Amino acid sequence: MVSHIVGYPCIGPKRELRFALESFWDGKSSGEDLQKVAADLRASIWKQMADAGIKFIPSNTFSFCEKVLDTTAMLGAVPPKYGWTGGEIGFDIYFSMARGNLSQPAMEMTKWFDTNYHFIVPELGPETKFSYASHKAVSEYKEAKALGIDTVPVLVGPVSYLLLSKPAKGVEKSFSLLSLLRKVLPVYMEVIAELKAAGATWIQFDEPTLVLDLQSHQLQAFTEAYSELESSFSGLNVLIETYFADVPAEAFKTITGLSGISGIGFDLVRGTQTLDLIKGGFPSGKFLFAGVVDGRNIWANDLASSLSTLEALEAIVGKDKLVVSTSCSLMHSAVDLVNETKLDSEIKSWFSFAAQKVVEVNALAKALAGTKDEAFFSSNVAAQASRKSSPRVNNEEVQKAAAALKGSDHRRATPVSARLDAQQKNLNLPILPTATISSFPQTMDLRRVQREYKAIKISEEEYVQAISEEISKVVKLQEELDIDVLVHGEPERNDMVEYFGEQLAGITFTVNGWVQLYGSRCVKPPIIYGDVSRPKAMTVFWSSMAQSMTSRPMKAMLTGPVTILNWYFVRNDQPRFETCYQIALAIKKEVEDLEAAGIQVIQIDEAALREGLPLRKSEQSFYLDWDIHSFRITNCGVKDTTQIHTHMCYSNFNDIIHPIIGIDADVITIENSRSDEKLLSVFREGVKYGAGIGPGVYDIHSPRIPSTEEIADRINKMLAVLESNILWVNPDCGLKTRKYTEVKPALANMVAAAKLLRKEL
Ligand code: GLN
Ligand code: ZN
Repeated sequence: MVSHIVGYPCIGPKRELRFALESFWDGKSSGEDLQKVAADLRASIWKQMADAGIKFIPSNTFSFCEKVLDTTAMLGAVPPKYGWTGGEIGFDIYFSMARGNLSQPAMEMTKWFDTNYHFIVPELGPETKFSYASHKAVSEYKEAKALGIDTVPVLVGPVSYLLLSKPAKGVEKSFSLLSLLRKVLPVYMEVIAELKAAGATWIQFDEPTLVLDLQSHQLQAFTEAYSELESSFSGLNVLIETYFADVPAEAFKTITGLSGISGIGFDLVRGTQTLDLIKGGFPSGKFLFAGVVDGRNIWANDLASSLSTLEALEAIVGKDKLVVSTSCSLMHSAVDLVNETKLDSEIKSWFSFAAQKVVEVNALAKALAGTKDEAFFSSNVAAQASRKSSPRVNNEEVQKAAAALKGSDHRRATPVSARLDAQQKNLNLPILPTATISSFPQTMDLRRVQREYKAIKISEEEYVQAISEEISKVVKLQEELDIDVLVHGEPERNDMVEYFGEQLAGITFTVNGWVQLYGSRCVKPPIIYGDVSRPKAMTVFWSSMAQSMTSRPMKAMLTGPVTILNWYFVRNDQPRFETCYQIALAIKKEVEDLEAAGIQVIQIDEAALREGLPLRKSEQSFYLDWDIHSFRITNCGVKDTTQIHTHMCYSNFNDIIHPIIGIDADVITIENSRSDEKLLSVFREGVKYGAGIGPGVYDIHSPRIPSTEEIADRINKMLAVLESNILWVNPDCGLKTRKYTEVKPALANMVAAAKLLRKEL
């Protein structure tokens, strides 16, 4: 009975890769220094897995940016604008594609399936030439071999690579990316031949697109690709790895029908129906890589339950053909629990980061082989039991309140147009009201104050003093700029998600639980481990202070339940919607306290609403239903005169326009300036929208200052499709990362543009 790991985080237990990359980019260290840090990280990962007893240890899962870009380099598919003239691709070309250079911006980046990991979208066309231009897979294989460790080189499979690509600029949208298959396969064959020559006996092809809703010609491409490659597979075992969801029945038929391959990997955590497909028939003689240890969270595996799944599978495929594996790469989990010195020991016993998951995989393999580590299993049973019954997890009152929400609709009684009228009587706003999304620049001074307060280096009093001065500055500035609805600027928040996590019960934090987004970028998601509740008001103090400084309406600022859910590690012992409802109830209390404190405008950010959208269409409407419901719960109890705003920032607004209407907010502000036409076309096509809407009038991601004319022009375009009485004027998103020298003139131009157009209306 053997064990396999799909992939492993490469950022390092203390973000070593991040610091090495930054030092290299800043010119403080050389390319060799960077390579050395990378090689040391790889060596320690391989050794750790070998020591744990893992049989199939992955290589080529390390990346200086991310794995799709590594594949683009391997295939020599560098867009011409980066001036690559051939030869092995080095750091200069590689990082030009990843980060841009003096003359060219970086390539587009997008999210890797429904994770927070990002990949660089290959830009391909009929003219793209492919050639073997990065030997990284082979050199990593040899590097491990030199350490005495035989690894399984991992490649992004050719079909997924093409399906995740986009047609390059100027290439017809109708161009079939899959038509490039014939051109990329010869390069794959060269890589395979070289790996074989270096001694590799297994190769893993990651083909996660197999879990999507594919059309039959796309499925056909898998059959074509792997039969074409079959000739180069002789003497080699090939694993096709899938992850992140169920493999649909058609796709299952396709992969199980491939003749040249030796094994298939499935995500059995998210793929609950895959198990039934396997029970219905699995090709004899092939290895089944059973992904039972979850790569996407930080929870200790329920070993007893995994073991029974594995035993059922063993009965189907046979003892010698079952491989215990992870559900996907462990890179979506945190790295190593050993470095969590501040976690309480009971809670800690419930967790398992990547390093611990490796041990779990091996323990399961050993148990199946008849050499069960009884002590390890019984301490797992104890931890599972303590998690189930711990008073830290269970809060009966919260459970009851959340359970009572199901089945009901939770809608504000008055329709939005009447609410807007009632609000306008109080707020008295001009037509085309101006506002910002909330955060103002976070200066070095401000960050220092936040840090020193956390480290108890300054007193509560000093802290309140410093923050209130900052709020007062921001309020004055907005009054000078003549903005209509003001914000306090969020100076007390280091981060819009962490800030709430720190104040809610049932949530904990790690010191080193970093997860890589790509390259040097990481996040440290808070962990929801128990029933969520709000012990006391979270934002009322600062919002009322800010309101007291001005006679204009002050917009209070909260992060919504769905965004909290999507940006945190979420408990796996109850459905996600259940947890979402609990957070919604906590936010609801805050909304009501803000209203009672006299706040008339409350924004509930749902920046990440779309991120949790399931990969398969059949599951999307259920998700959107409870998502939208959760949002409505937060504010269904407020008065008609209280104006509820929400903010979202992603550009694919179109496909979820109807759910967004269903959210029933009074005003929605939305990122738009990088995808103007897309958003407007929705309304041009006749979607009725009666609530207030503020499509961002300028891009806050760039230091560029937009002119008054340019902003006025944008607003005019919107006025062509939207009623003037529902349109708001605001930037795309918060101003946190900008400088005051950019923010002041940009906002001044924004207000000037609104005033200019008011005269014309
Ligand atoms: N209120 C947050 C801010 O203004 C929203 C940030 C976001 O949408 N990402 O910074
Ligand atoms: Zn935003």
